[in-house]
Amino acid sequence: ISVREALDAVFAQIDQTEGRYHAYVTLDKEGAYKQADVIQEKIDKGELTGALAGVPVAIKDNMCTKGLLTTCSSKILENYIPTYTASAVQNLTDAGCVIIGKTNMDEFAMGSTTETSYYGVTRNPHNPDHVPGGSSGGSAAAVALNECFFALGSDTGGSIRQPSAFCGITGMKPTYGTVSRYGLIAYGSSLDQIGPMTKNVTDCAAVLETIASYDKKDSTSMKREEYDFTSALVRDVKGLRIGLPKDYFGEGLDSEVKAAIFKAAETFKRMGAIVEEFDLGLVQYAIPAYYIIASAEASSNLERFDGVKYGYRTKEYGDLHSMYKKTRSEGFGSEVKRRIMLGSFVLSSGYYDAYYLKALKTKALIKQEFDKAFEKYDIILAPAAPTTAPLLGSSLQDPIKMYLSDIYTISANLAGIPGLSIPCGKDNKGLPIGMQLLGGCFQEKTLLRAGFAYE
Ligand code: GLN
Repeated sequence: ISVREALDAVFAQIDQTEGRYHAYVTLDKEGAYKQADVIQEKIDKGELTGALAGVPVAIKDNMCTKGLLTTCSSKILENYIPTYTASAVQNLTDAGCVIIGKTNMDEFAMGSTTETSYYGVTRNPHNPDHVPGGSSGGSAAAVALNECFFALGSDTGGSIRQPSAFCGITGMKPTYGTVSRYGLIAYGSSLDQIGPMTKNVTDCAAVLETIASYDKKDSTSMKREEYDFTSALVRDVKGLRIGLPKDYFGEGLDSEVKAAIFKAAETFKRMGAIVEEFDLGLVQYAIPAYYIIASAEASSNLERFDGVKYGYRTKEYGDLHSMYKKTRSEGFGSEVKRRIMLGSFVLSSGYYDAYYLKALKTKALIKQEFDKAFEKYDIILAPAAPTTAPLLGSSLQDPIKMYLSDIYTISANLAGIPGLSIPCGKDNKGLPIGMQLLGGCFQEKTLLRAGFAYE
């Protein structure tokens, strides 16, 4: 099919479903057709031959796109049109992808439901009374609704893997440093990582292969030995050692989710993998360590939104200080403010050692626990989230409860390791259940191989 035909199909679908589900903050139909014609010409001339040439994609609204509104789903960036493009997005564009729009998210990627967006909620494609997960809920919903061929998300503590699980799609957070963060509006810089949100594992490998690159513009970018991920797609898990962390299957885990993960473990066993339960230590410290570190980094990263350089500025003010104060009070939502306050507190003198430093030490110890586990196992199999997608409105009143629901995903960010979320069943309401495969640093191919064999 032609590039225009692919776009026609996607926009026809958007006309049908977007009004109800609201996956996008911005749609760029005109721009997409313009890109399409340029790409079509290159394809016809044989200048673009890759698998992604001409494919319509959606980008989470925290990645800068030159000339296209980038809001982070915040009021404070309601008018921000970047003058440059994020490297991961540029890699897609270079491969011939057509960017059709920017997807909804929790404000500044803080949240697990996409309900903290200034631009309204996104609904779960499997049941519109439920959330799509978050923070990359718009990307997950867009993929599940066929409103794009695939999307990019970002994952600081689960924001790719958890919404993928809630919407029944495939999502991967790569090893920290694999995909450039240049142009990704920072939340927790030491944890943030961009990754693919796709319909299946094959697409996931192809997208990862395209967006992963060494980038001088990101000082934490890593040069990897190889960037070939599609060769991992062989249906063979014989002898693969899979560990189930006992502490992940106790209190708080929904029984249907638990049953689905154990069933997946059985499937792996039948295919020849060796499955064993084991003790992963320090699980109970992951949430406090994560929320201290992520908030600390966020409080520093969000200093730049002051009404001076770009974005929203309050209408009436006295001196410079009142301008800062009013701009930030009006521009940020309550979850973002909560994180800024928490982050400023744990970094303030007198509390730095007690909280922030301790959290960093805990992070190092958690990484060691995972290193130890990966001496024995190739893969850790876990739920992506303790439940299926909650009802809209049920998480906002109780932030602590929402933070606790990140239990299975945040450790991978603290340890810097890759995680792949794939669908593994549905609950009795028809909502998708996702499992998570975790691997040691740089073991994306092992995860993709196992995921491919399973699906
Ligand atoms: N829910 C987590 C948080 O609010 C993770 C979000 C993310 O990965 N961006 O911080």
